[in-house]
Amino acid sequence: MAVSCNDDERKRRLRGLGYTDAEIDVVDKEEYGKLDATNQKAYVKQDIKACLQRADLHVSNPDSGNMVSHFNSLADQLLTFVALMIRPGLVTPTPLERCMQIAYTAKLNSGCISRQVGAVVTDVNFSVQSVGWNDTPFGQVPCSLRNRFDLTNGHDQDAYSEYEKLDVKFISAALAGNEKFLKVASTGRNISYCFKDEYNQLTGKDNQVHTRSLHAEENAFLQIAKYGGRGVEDGKLFTTASPCELCSKKAYQLGIKEIYYIDPYPGIAMSHILMGGSKNPKLIIFSGAIGRAFHNLYSPKLSFKDELNALSL
Ligand SMILES: [Zn+2]
Ligand SMILES: [Zn+2]
Repeated sequence: MAVSCNDDERKRRLRGLGYTDAEIDVVDKEEYGKLDATNQKAYVKQDIKACLQRADLHVSNPDSGNMVSHFNSLADQLLTFVALMIRPGLVTPTPLERCMQIAYTAKLNSGCISRQVGAVVTDVNFSVQSVGWNDTPFGQVPCSLRNRFDLTNGHDQDAYSEYEKLDVKFISAALAGNEKFLKVASTGRNISYCFKDEYNQLTGKDNQVHTRSLHAEENAFLQIAKYGGRGVEDGKLFTTASPCELCSKKAYQLGIKEIYYIDPYPGIAMSHILMGGSKNPKLIIFSGAIGRAFHNLYSPKLSFKDELNALSL
C-alpha cells in the first residue's frame, strides 16, 4: 500500500514538523534515491520508489483543508477498502481505477530492463482513446530481448544500431564490460544491457536523452496520431508513474485537462511546465486499487442474484 500526497503538500508538512529544505533533501535522497540490488542498503532501507511501483492499494492523503474536516477524504478511502475486503464486489470500480488498471496492465508489456510504466489517454468521459507503455519504437527490438554478447559476436544484427555496431569506442567498452557477465551468462540468463547506462558511462555524462524507449505517455499520445482517432482536447491522461517534463509539455499542447499519476516525486515538470499559462491541466494523485488488489476487491464471490435467492430459501 502506498499513501501519498502531492509533493508541495508533503514538503509543507515536513517544514511544519521543523525540517529545513536541506534536511528534506537529505531524507529524500536517502528514501527515494537510486537503490538497486547491488547496493546493500536496498535490502534494509526504506525504498519509496519501489513501494510506489509495487503498491496495489493507493491512498491519497490530501490536505485536510480545515480544522473540522477530520480527514474525511482519508477516512472515506480507508472505509471503502475495508468494506471491499470484507465484501468483494460491494461496489464497482471507479472510472479512475478502471483506467489506471488498464495503464497498469499495459505497463507489463514494457521491454525496458530498468522500469515499466503504463499510460492511458481518455476523452472527457473516461472513454479510453489509447494506451501506451515505455518501449522502443515499433520495429526496433526492446532492450529485454537484446544481448551484449550477440552485439559483440555479430549475431542478430538487426537488433543493434549502426552506432552500436560501428563505433570503435562503444564496442571496446562493451567488450570490456562483457567479462563480468560471463558467469551470469552461464546461468542461462539473457545478458541485456541498458544502452543509456552504457552510453552515459562511456561519455561520463548523466544524459536522459539517450534512452531507446519512448515514454509510456508519449507512446499513448502517438498511437492516436498513428492509427487515427478522436481528438483528446479536454481529455485525461493516466500514468502509473508521473509525467516527465517532455511528456507534460505534450499533454499541455494536446489540451489534456486532468493528469492522474502515482509517483509524486516529479522533478520540476509540475511547477515549471504544467503550472504556467492559462490552460493548466489539473494534477490529481491517484487513489484506489489496481493490479492484484483490483481483482481481489472487485470480483464478487458469487452473483448477487444467486446469493439473494439462496438466502431466501
Ligand atoms: Zn531500456
Ligand atoms: Zn515522459
